[in-house]
Amino acid sequence: MKAWVKHEGKGATFWLQPPCTDRCIMFVPGRSGYMLCALRRGSWKVRAAYKTLSDAQAAHDGKRIPAEQRLFFEQDTPGLVSQVKTRGLRVSLYHADQAGLSDGDSGPWVTVCEEHGGLVFHPTVTAARGYLSHPEEWCPTCQGDTTE
Ligand SMILES: [Zn+2]
Repeated sequence: MKAWVKHEGKGATFWLQPPCTDRCIMFVPGRSGYMLCALRRGSWKVRAAYKTLSDAQAAHDGKRIPAEQRLFFEQDTPGLVSQVKTRGLRVSLYHADQAGLSDGDSGPWVTVCEEHGGLVFHPTVTAARGYLSHPEEWCPTCQGDTTE
């Protein structure tokens, strides 16, 4: 495991691990935590973001980090893990806490029908992904639509 070298510059702190074959850097821009970025075709792409530096470093070195310890911000939206279009509807999967949707005792993951506002909580990110493409199973409005 190679050492990461800390740099300060351009208003941000970042770590480099030269020479990394994936040309990775770890970058810390405020609320996005520790973003693990890799140079692809001339521009930096975010591979994933983590709450702690040690998790980001471990992920870079191939360790599996639980989804709960990652930070999500697809499309610059806090908490957004992924979004699909199904039957013309946009449906999203969020980390409930990071998206500000947590009600305290439901599951940490939530699927949301963006068209109708229907949502349901899930105990694991894997379970949530299973529901993502099927809002007709949990969005009240979508359920009504299917029985027309
Ligand atoms: Zn719906």
